[in-house]
Amino acid sequence: MLRTLRPDPDILIIGGGGAGLCAALHAADRAPGLSIALVVKGLLGRAGCTRMVQGGYNAVLRAPDSLEAHFLDTLKGGAFLNDQELAWRLVATAPARLTELEDRYGCFFDRNAAGEIHQKPFAGQSHDRTVHRGDLTGIEIMNRLAEQAWARPAIRVLEEHRALDLLQDAEGRVGGALLLDIRTGAVTVARARATLLACGGGPTMYRVIACSADKAADGIALAYRAGAVLRDMEMVQFHPTGLVVPGSLMTGALLEEGLRGAGGRLFNAAGERYMARHDPARLERSTRDVVARASYLEIAEGRGSPEGGVWLDVSHLGAEFVERHFRGMVRRCRDFGLDLARRPVPVMPTAHFLMGGVAIDPDCRTSLEGLFAAGEDAGGVHGANRLGGNGVADSTVFGGIAGDVMADWVVGRPWPALSLADAERRAAAVRAPLGRASRDEAAPLRAALRDLMWEQAGLVRTAAGLEAARAALAALAPRLDALGVPGGPTYNLAWQGWLDGRNQALAARLVVRSALERRESRGAHYRADYPEPDDARWLVTVLVAERDGEMRVWTEPVRLTRARPASAPAAMVEIGD
Ligand SMILES: Cc1cc2nc3c(=O)[nH]c(=O)nc-3n(C[C@H](O)[C@H](O)[C@H](O)COP(=O)(O)OP(=O)(O)OC[C@H]3O[C@@H](n4cnc5c(N)ncnc54)[C@H](O)[C@@H]3O)c2cc1C
Repeated sequence: MLRTLRPDPDILIIGGGGAGLCAALHAADRAPGLSIALVVKGLLGRAGCTRMVQGGYNAVLRAPDSLEAHFLDTLKGGAFLNDQELAWRLVATAPARLTELEDRYGCFFDRNAAGEIHQKPFAGQSHDRTVHRGDLTGIEIMNRLAEQAWARPAIRVLEEHRALDLLQDAEGRVGGALLLDIRTGAVTVARARATLLACGGGPTMYRVIACSADKAADGIALAYRAGAVLRDMEMVQFHPTGLVVPGSLMTGALLEEGLRGAGGRLFNAAGERYMARHDPARLERSTRDVVARASYLEIAEGRGSPEGGVWLDVSHLGAEFVERHFRGMVRRCRDFGLDLARRPVPVMPTAHFLMGGVAIDPDCRTSLEGLFAAGEDAGGVHGANRLGGNGVADSTVFGGIAGDVMADWVVGRPWPALSLADAERRAAAVRAPLGRASRDEAAPLRAALRDLMWEQAGLVRTAAGLEAARAALAALAPRLDALGVPGGPTYNLAWQGWLDGRNQALAARLVVRSALERRESRGAHYRADYPEPDDARWLVTVLVAERDGEMRVWTEPVRLTRARPASAPAAMVEIGD
């Protein structure tokens, strides 16, 4: 029996991280008469990765930094695969959004001695640009944004609800989503004039992860099943410094980028500062892709620590400095008996962020009418590698833009006519595993998925490994689909795990298929069989979409609308807007 969300919201926002919350606030403030439904898989302000943001937020606030410098850093970090119009929109809007976070929503960021907002160095950046609140910046941002959302009656919050599938009319226009109330198991049709995907991507289909475990690449899977175009799905970011805690699920939890920015050093088990071999000029301040791959190779080639990691050492910065500036990181290490301020701690690369996602234009429109995407669900802003500090800027900048654009877009538009039979069919498929007997067990199958992705589609890839992953995924997906789940629909975490696994396996297929397509190495995508970047052939975007039940992959040249790779500032063709 399906329920219907009443009244129909004008705008349905799926996901309540930085992107979803900024979208809801902007839409509510731009057009106060609109009704907005904000759907969150967990609790508002608590779920997702924006709360986990540690290091901070990139925004150009004063000279000698400039928008042009931030833009070029973003393109260089992204190995020029970025959509330059999205990247420019990010850097040009970030300063105003940061001011808005303080002046309008009540966030407060750290100050320097002169009382100005303090900005710290982050890897891959030409200026000290990263605004922060200690080393736990996301908590400040999410607490304030959530308070603001609760205070606006136009925003109806549906906590512990997960979007299962997008709903479309006969012409393919997106008109809302099918929702599951995790607490009761009730399935609801939410019909809306505009729908935003802001589920925060999330490479949780890998063995070692830094991102919030409540994410399962749901937005990616929903968009793909609806026929939207996705891009750059081969680009998965591995952060170099995930904590190693033997035997604990905390392995992979992040130690923030600022530690390397402040001068942190990485050593292998032989005591060698190995970044001198991998990037002698930038050492540990190199971009994440380079440092993570270097650490991975040190470990894979037998120069790792007994725990299977390498060592991060910040003790030379002085215990007092480390304890003052990295209080959260010191506390996190102390929880596991490690003294970050005084001794090296074991770290390893950890799956962190999806650069790929739903293809959008600078107004967050997707290829499907009525569907918008923002934050980590969207691809193109970061190209082949995201700079630290550009993630939360992305989600708040584009979330706000999406809210404004949707508020204008819905005016005068009818609610699409949705097929109830289609919604019933989808709901039946979702309920199918409840009480069903199955040969396989969920935990080993999901572990097999994570191991497969880590080993064959992780930091170092080859055609043979990716082909093996493709075949293994083709065999795994039907077994995951056929799993049975014990118990009923009420707060059934095994059922939620089944739903997660289904979407993770689909996202894994998109990553593997796109990685096979790109026969070169660029940014986070490293092919041992094609170890060099190849601008002549591969300065192209890999796109993927479902067409007639098949996964179709094609490439399009990167549009170099503002800058060209081999020619830094002087060759900028156009800056400004
Ligand atoms: C440990 C860590 C540290 C980080 N530090 C930094 C940093 O210092 N600087 C920086 O710029 N970036 C950092 N990032 C990256 C940053 O967190 C992300 O780029 C950004 O927060 C993503 O925002 P978002 O709104 O797209 O997604 P999220 O904040 O992850 O929000 C996603 C939301 O979608 C919800 N959701 C998911 N699936 C569904 C579904 N099916 N139905 C309904 N709701 C759903 C989730 O519950 C959540 O509310 C860090 C990430 C991690 C993991």
